[in-house]
Amino acid sequence: MNIVILGAGQAAASLAAKLRALGHQGGIAIIGDEPAPPYQRPPLSKAYLLGDMGLDRLTLRAPEWWEEQRITLHLGEKALRIDRDRRVVVTDRGEHPYDQLALTLGATPRRLPEAMGGALPGVHVVRSLADIAGLKPGLVAGRRLVVIGGGYIGLEAAAVARKLGLEVTLVEAAPRILGRVAAPETAAMIRDLHTAHGVQVLEGTGITRITGQTAADGVELADGRHLPADLVICGIGIWPETALAGAAGLTLNNGIATDGQGRTSDPAIWAAGDCASFPAPDTCPGGGQLRLESVGNAIDMAEAVAANMLGAGADYVPKPWFWSDQFDAKLQIAGLNLGYDRVVTRTAEPGSSVWYFRDGRLIAVDALNDARAYMIGKRLIEAGRSPTPEAVAEAGDLKALMA
Ligand code: NAP
Repeated sequence: MNIVILGAGQAAASLAAKLRALGHQGGIAIIGDEPAPPYQRPPLSKAYLLGDMGLDRLTLRAPEWWEEQRITLHLGEKALRIDRDRRVVVTDRGEHPYDQLALTLGATPRRLPEAMGGALPGVHVVRSLADIAGLKPGLVAGRRLVVIGGGYIGLEAAAVARKLGLEVTLVEAAPRILGRVAAPETAAMIRDLHTAHGVQVLEGTGITRITGQTAADGVELADGRHLPADLVICGIGIWPETALAGAAGLTLNNGIATDGQGRTSDPAIWAAGDCASFPAPDTCPGGGQLRLESVGNAIDMAEAVAANMLGAGADYVPKPWFWSDQFDAKLQIAGLNLGYDRVVTRTAEPGSSVWYFRDGRLIAVDALNDARAYMIGKRLIEAGRSPTPEAVAEAGDLKALMA
């Protein structure tokens, strides 16, 4: 059986490795439009951007590993369409026939429209090695950076830039930072962290446009103010890569829709990672297709899909976890807080944790510099065990919650 994997990121690498680990002997080809072999993206907005990590550590596997595993990499090659009738992927270099195809296409960063200055030189996004190659030389002490968007990309990039000595202002259009992913309690801790390190955080502040004739020279705010800038970073979210799947007539629903096993509406095509959505009845209140934008999901879903391509027939059950490094702080998140109706905050110097409940059940924990809270929360959530909010609030030693 010949397997083609479209997209050459973390999910592709995990899927291919798992296929071989499970004994698949047939062909495996990975096609990706970036020139680099599969690499980790999380450090792009953290240690790699800061200069604390080299390219060798970013790369997921050494070149000889791919050869040993007989996995063919087609890099710098752009897929143009999927011909489902002939079971062929057509690229700008030729055709790749498949018996089964996996879509691990990831996501594309949202950009501000050209009319708002989104395409001016000096406006950056943070998603790929090429993005960092364009951004890094501009991160010079004393320069003024405006970050648009207060999600993890914006906050992590702001922290790195501040560490490198830039003057940083972060602008978030929504009433507060991390509005999509965290409770006000967690957002407050992260805001305090940034403010303490000299980042100016402007929340509930829309922008009208990025200014500049030949290059970005500032950001005009909706309230009329103008923030001068030497460079601008847009961290305003991502779009799942669905164009090829949509053009091939596959069902889309919050990404490329898959069933519980990761199979798309074409039984010969599978999807995993940032581009894929799947049913997750336990996690998604009210049902619907869940799509997770995280490296943990890219790895776990890809491995589940690999097993299912080989006939395992097992539903993918996500065990969401996330982390973020900002300044000297480590935020670790276990579970998903979708639809939470109550939070309990614990402070355990030097750390804090926010515990999310839905209908009295523990669903997620955000732990800031509190590895113990993260570990215990993760174990409880994954075991489907839930202490009461009162027990979490009152526990002296969190370990008591495990009893
Ligand atoms: P994100 O989590 O969607 O955050 C983007 C933020 O920008 C949102 O708060 C959004 O507000 C805001 N925004 C949108 N348009 C804006 C505008 N015109 N002006 C000002 N603010 C605006 O996405 P991201 O931070 O770009 O990150 C991309 C993906 O990578 C996300 O899935 C993220 O979780 C992931 N990532 C994760 C980590 C980690 O886990 N440590 C690190 C980096 C990236 P609205 O929601 O109101 O639109």
